[in-house]
Amino acid sequence: MNSFWWGCERERARGIRWKSWERLCVPKQHGGMGFRKIREFNIALLALINPIEPRWNDTLLNSLFNHEDLISIKSIPLPDSKMPDSIKSIPLPDSKMPDKMIWMALPDSKMPDKMIWMEDMKGVYTVKSCYKSLMGNYQSTQVPFWTKAWKFMLPPKIKAFFWQLCSNSLPTHDRLRTRNIQVPNVCQLCNTEEEFSFHLFVCCPLARDCWNILGGINYHTSTSTLDWLEQIFTSKSDDDICALISVCWKIWNARNEKIWNHNILPASFICHYAKNYLFEWSTVTTITDRSLDHAHWIRPPS
Ligand SMILES: [Zn+2]
Repeated sequence: MNSFWWGCERERARGIRWKSWERLCVPKQHGGMGFRKIREFNIALLALINPIEPRWNDTLLNSLFNHEDLISIKSIPLPDSKMPDSIKSIPLPDSKMPDKMIWMALPDSKMPDKMIWMEDMKGVYTVKSCYKSLMGNYQSTQVPFWTKAWKFMLPPKIKAFFWQLCSNSLPTHDRLRTRNIQVPNVCQLCNTEEEFSFHLFVCCPLARDCWNILGGINYHTSTSTLDWLEQIFTSKSDDDICALISVCWKIWNARNEKIWNHNILPASFICHYAKNYLFEWSTVTTITDRSLDHAHWIRPPS
């Protein structure tokens, strides 16, 4: 999976895995890509609940618990909704069930004790809560930068690019040299300074031309790409930030276009293309969402 994400599985491709699969599986609000860890998700999905319908998996429970515990476990409520057909054919995992069920005493109450699922506020077992539990509890410590970044209305491929930019996993020349790949020292856009992320997107004359065209972008006081972006995040509107991220994406395209095809894209073209691309994507997305909400058949004229 990790190889596929980084393009290492294509024919004759020699892609680099810039981040581990563990890092990609970290929730988005904590700097990862939020990919599912298959093993943990499989445990959460199938360890206890029958995959065909929402009831306890008797076969597995019978093999793990004595009769008394079985009665208690089966008293835990399950959601009513049916599981999707796509998961019915997934084989049972051979790992042990998550140890998250405990006896909970109800002091000074006439109600009898009962088993509940501790990872859910209502005590109901859900795959989502079990998966989160297996992944570790990230919920209380969300990173504001990432939480905000993933909420922007941006095309998925620009979001993926932005994640690479912020997690220092774009294959800039300084990063390629850390993997012993022989590349030129200088930035291919200006031929004056070393190419690294902060130079390419903030200090390079082409980038500064773009920010001057976009207007109101401060690039004088930051010391790193993340520092610059965090300043932008706190001082600009969401629309301005989306435009800036799109221009960053197009600067990266312009850099690749120069290296691989020797074409030079001017700042005015980069800004116009990026903003127009974002506008067209937003228009199509909005129209699609609206038409899905209110779509109804109209009889054609006879
Ligand atoms: Zn440069």
